[in-house]
Amino acid sequence: MIRLRKFGVVVGTRCTFDCRHCLLDKRKRKRSLREREKRLLCEVVRRYAPASLSFTGGETTLYVDDINRISSALPKNSKSNPGIVTNGGFASSVREARRMLASIRGLTYVQMSYDKFHAEFLPKSRLENLFNVCRELGIGFRVVTTLQSPLDLKITAELGAIGGFEVAVQKICDIGEAKKNGLAFRHFVFDKKVLSQVCPNRDQLVYQCGRGFSVCCSNLIYNGFGKYCLHKTPEDHFNSEFYKRMRNAVLGRLFVQHGGDPESLRPEHSSPCALCEHIFRTTDIVKTWPKK
Ligand code: SF4
Ligand code: SF4
Repeated sequence: MIRLRKFGVVVGTRCTFDCRHCLLDKRKRKRSLREREKRLLCEVVRRYAPASLSFTGGETTLYVDDINRISSALPKNSKSNPGIVTNGGFASSVREARRMLASIRGLTYVQMSYDKFHAEFLPKSRLENLFNVCRELGIGFRVVTTLQSPLDLKITAELGAIGGFEVAVQKICDIGEAKKNGLAFRHFVFDKKVLSQVCPNRDQLVYQCGRGFSVCCSNLIYNGFGKYCLHKTPEDHFNSEFYKRMRNAVLGRLFVQHGGDPESLRPEHSSPCALCEHIFRTTDIVKTWPKK
């Protein structure tokens, strides 16, 4: 049987904000889980009891009933730790933050997205409300902030001044609204280190609302290669050609093995997901895919 340690569910794509750097195309921020998907996700959670179960969106707090239904399917003795990723927009007061968190069963952590783009919709006081309520209720709290350029790191200092929680940083990928608006992180030279890297998400599985299961939650599924990497069940995914090829692939080796042209490597291919997309776009990798 498959071991599913980290499982993420994109529980819907609707959102309360309209960020210019969103990885979701604005026109696609309308999805919610259908009944058959909810049943399938309950079955997956029941069967595999993933050690880590995280819900992402869209804005997850628009989907509390679905989150509760899916996490209730965890076996009674499971040590799983359900958590949500949120924009924190609901935390207009300590009371509102408390009310929302109390409505999510078994919640063990909150990961809040906050950066200069979220700040266009969110006063920092809401972050503070959410952090304080998490602390009061014994719920873990961390912030993930995105970078368009190294200058954006100054926000980590501002968040550090509040103190008491972890702040992780992510470079903005060239997908969704960020791609349309030219907001992806700018590399100025090609960073050769990426050639020795592997898929950063290969140890987790994500269910994409309305689309399917994949270890990929980045460039391939958002930039037109979903048919190669999304599958109807976890079993289909872990037995797929995609997973077999990506599971242990060192990206530089995959690039050479499939006839990639080293002259085509540009600064923008300096992250694993951008290089991965470049491999799918410019080499023979998909031509060598067995026909179904
Ligand atoms: S980046 Fe997050 S908060 Fe902003 S629109 Fe997209 S899903 Fe919503
Ligand atoms: S784009 Fe490639 S490297 Fe990035 S998450 Fe998807 S499969 Fe992994």
